[in-house]
Amino acid sequence: MQFEPVIGLEVHVQLLTESKIFCGCSARFGAPPNSNVCPVCLGLPGALPVLNRRAVEFAVLAAQALNCQVRETSIFARKNYFYPDLPKGYQISQFDKPVAEHGFVDIPSGEGTRRIGITRLHMEEDAGKSLHDGFPNSATSTAIDLNRSGVPLIEIVSEPDMRSPEEAYDFLTRLKEIILYTGVSDCNMEEGSLRCDANISVRRRGAEKFGTKAEVKNLNSFRYLQRALEYEIERQISVLESGGKIAQETRLWNVSEGRTESMRSKEFAHDYRYFPEPDLLPLRVSAAWQGEIAAAMPELPDARRKRFVRDFSITPYDAEVLTTTRVLADYFEGVVGAGAPPKPAANWIQVELLRQLKDAGKEIAESPVPPRELAALVAKVESGEINAATGKKVFARMFETGKPAAEIIAAEGFSQVSDTGEIERWCREVIEKNPDNLAKYRAGNEGVFKFFVGQVMRASRGQANPQTVNDTLKRLLS
Ligand code: ADP
Ligand code: ZN
Ligand code: MG
Repeated sequence: MQFEPVIGLEVHVQLLTESKIFCGCSARFGAPPNSNVCPVCLGLPGALPVLNRRAVEFAVLAAQALNCQVRETSIFARKNYFYPDLPKGYQISQFDKPVAEHGFVDIPSGEGTRRIGITRLHMEEDAGKSLHDGFPNSATSTAIDLNRSGVPLIEIVSEPDMRSPEEAYDFLTRLKEIILYTGVSDCNMEEGSLRCDANISVRRRGAEKFGTKAEVKNLNSFRYLQRALEYEIERQISVLESGGKIAQETRLWNVSEGRTESMRSKEFAHDYRYFPEPDLLPLRVSAAWQGEIAAAMPELPDARRKRFVRDFSITPYDAEVLTTTRVLADYFEGVVGAGAPPKPAANWIQVELLRQLKDAGKEIAESPVPPRELAALVAKVESGEINAATGKKVFARMFETGKPAAEIIAAEGFSQVSDTGEIERWCREVIEKNPDNLAKYRAGNEGVFKFFVGQVMRASRGQANPQTVNDTLKRLLS
C-alpha cells in the first residue's frame, strides 16, 4: 500500500457515580424521561453547580491507570454552543488545563507492544439526549430527555499514534479493559457509557506531514469503529489518487449503508468561546489526595497477566483470556485459591465455563457454578475419582442446577467405577459380542485394542476407570 493511515481517538467514558457531576440528581441510566432533573442540570437561571468529589476521584483514578500526569490545579471551562438538549447553552468542560495529561496505553504488536500516547484526560458534564423516534408524534417532533444532562464524563484524547484500524481496535479494547478494572465506569457501549469518535487521515508512506483528517462520529461498537476506519481509509485514498483533496469535516457512520457520510464541514472551525467557569473554583488535587486515590488502585490487567504467567505457570495466551475482565480473573483466582491446580483450572474455565456462559447468554458474575464448586469438580477429575468425560457431564449439570459436584455425582450415579468385578463383566461382554475383532487382535492387529477400550467405556457410560479397563482388557484378550 502506497498510503499510510494515521488515527487518533477521542473517547468519552461515563463515570459510575451515584449522582451527577454538579448536582445531587441520580446519574443512573434508564429512569423515566426527565425524572432525574433539578434546577442545576436543567440549566435554570441562578442555579449553581457544586462539584461531585467522587467524580473527581474516579477521573483521577482513571488518569493514573492510563499513566497520565495529574495536575494539581485544573480549571473548569464553559464550552459555549447551542443545542436543544443543552439547556444552559454551554457545557461545563475543561480546556487548556485539563485534570490530566501525557499518558499512554500499550497495545499488543507482533511479539511485543506498541505505546499509544494519551494527550489529555479531562472532566466534563454530559448533555441531554434528543430522541428522534420511538415516542408519540415522533414523525413530526423530536423529544428531549434531560436525565443525562450533568452526568459525569471523562474525555480521553489519544495522540495520532495509531496506524491501522486493528491498532485503533486494540487501543480501544485495552483502554476499556483498564477502565473496567478501575471500576470507574461500566463502559457499556449500548447505554452510551463508552463512546468513541475517530480522527483519521492518510499520507504517502514515508511522508512526515500528516494529511488532512476527517472525524467520524457515532461509532457505538468496536465493529463499527473498525469498519468505519476501513471505509474511510479507502475513501480518502481514492480521493487523493484521483487528484482530489480531503475536506476537513465531521462524518457520520451510517450503520445500515456501511459507509461514512459528511455531516458538517470543519472548514470554519467551531468557536466555542471557552472561558473559565466563573461558578466553580479551580480544582485542586493535591499530591496527598492523588496518593490516597492511587492507593485504591486495583492491580491492572497488564500486571495481572504477567503475575498469572509467573505464579501459575499458565501460558501468556491463557493469562490473556483469563484477565479480559476483572471478574473473570477473580473467578480464576478463586478456583485456584480453593485448591485447584492452575493449569486444569484455566482449561476448565476457558473451555467449559465460558462456553456454557456464552450459550446461556450469561456473564461470569452470574455463573451458577461458584469458584469453590468448580475447584471441587477439578479436584475430583484430577484425582481420578471421575474421568474427564464424566467431569464435563457433571459440570453441565452443575451449571444447569447450581448444585455442588458431589451432590450431582452421588445423585446421578456419575462416579467413576473402579470396581474390577464390574469392569471385567463389561469387558467380557464386549469381547463376546465382537469375535471378528478378537480374531484380528489375536492375529497381531494391536490397533483394534483401542476399539475394545472405546466399547467398554461406552458400555460403562464413560464411568469406568480407564486404567482398570486397559489392564483388564489386556489380560482377557491375551
Ligand atoms: P481538533 O482541533 O480538530 O479537535 P486535535 O488536534 O485536538 O483536533 O485532535 C483531535 C484528535 O484528532 C486527537 O485524537 C488527535 O490524535 C487526532 N488527530 C489530530 N490530527 C490528526 C491527523 N492529521 N490525522 C489523524 N488524527 C489526527
Ligand atoms: Zn440535577
Ligand atoms: Mg480538539
